[in-house]
Amino acid sequence: MIEAKNITKSFGDEKVLRDVSFTFEQNKTLSILGKSGSGKTTLLKIFAGLESKYSGQIFVDGRRMDDVKPKDRGVVYLYQEPLLFPHLTVEENIGFGLRIRDEKHDIIKEKTLEMVNRLQLNGQEKKYPEQLSGGQKQRVAFGRAFIIHPTVLLLDEPFGSLDPETRLEMQTLFVEISRAEKITTLFVTHDLKEALMTGDRFGMMQNGVLHLFESREAFINDSGSGVQEELKFWNKITRQHDENRSN
Ligand code: ADP
Repeated sequence: MIEAKNITKSFGDEKVLRDVSFTFEQNKTLSILGKSGSGKTTLLKIFAGLESKYSGQIFVDGRRMDDVKPKDRGVVYLYQEPLLFPHLTVEENIGFGLRIRDEKHDIIKEKTLEMVNRLQLNGQEKKYPEQLSGGQKQRVAFGRAFIIHPTVLLLDEPFGSLDPETRLEMQTLFVEISRAEKITTLFVTHDLKEALMTGDRFGMMQNGVLHLFESREAFINDSGSGVQEELKFWNKITRQHDENRSN
């Protein structure tokens, strides 16, 4: 279980998170939708251990994390710009987390190959990051994260800089692998469709206040999520299209 209890955070006079509390189960993805500036990144940074001055508590599997050093939390934080080691190849980047854990050479080889296949990076193994496209780099960053089975994967608009087609491919791949590998993810985005595609649970952040929905249906039916607006838009377009055809 992942838990946040009464998290409040300010920068100077600006309250950025207001009494944020939630729980969600392991092996699931909680997708939090929110406009830019609503406090999503700050919440992820608190989980990653990159923001220290706040009130409230966070727990992973019942273990209080607030005073645990970032490197000992077992979390991975990924954002738009994939941070890869420029001097390592694709397979060396993916296997990095296993190498520093002193895994056996054969096991690293086997798991890296499996991840390369899963991420459809076959044929790219020996390339260096500078030789990859944006989408391929992001795949490598995900491979490096997935392979070590983080306690929580923190994703901060990870596909924001990709073109729509590649973005959709990555969302689909993320859902496929995170389910198969049973990865627990906190996914923040300002993109409604992305939240709907990736989430098992849904939340909405507005001005530092987090609202958690009981179900996908509750999220879809809530006037604030924007789903109904979107449906109205498409219904209107379809009606207009039908009317034009019958005239
Ligand atoms: P989001 O991820 O939803 O775009 P952020 O968590 O990045 O929102 O930011 C929430 C608010 O906190 C914004 O108004 C932002 O300007 C402010 N903020 C974020 N980081 C800092 C910081 N280090 N110093 C001062 N203000 C910050």
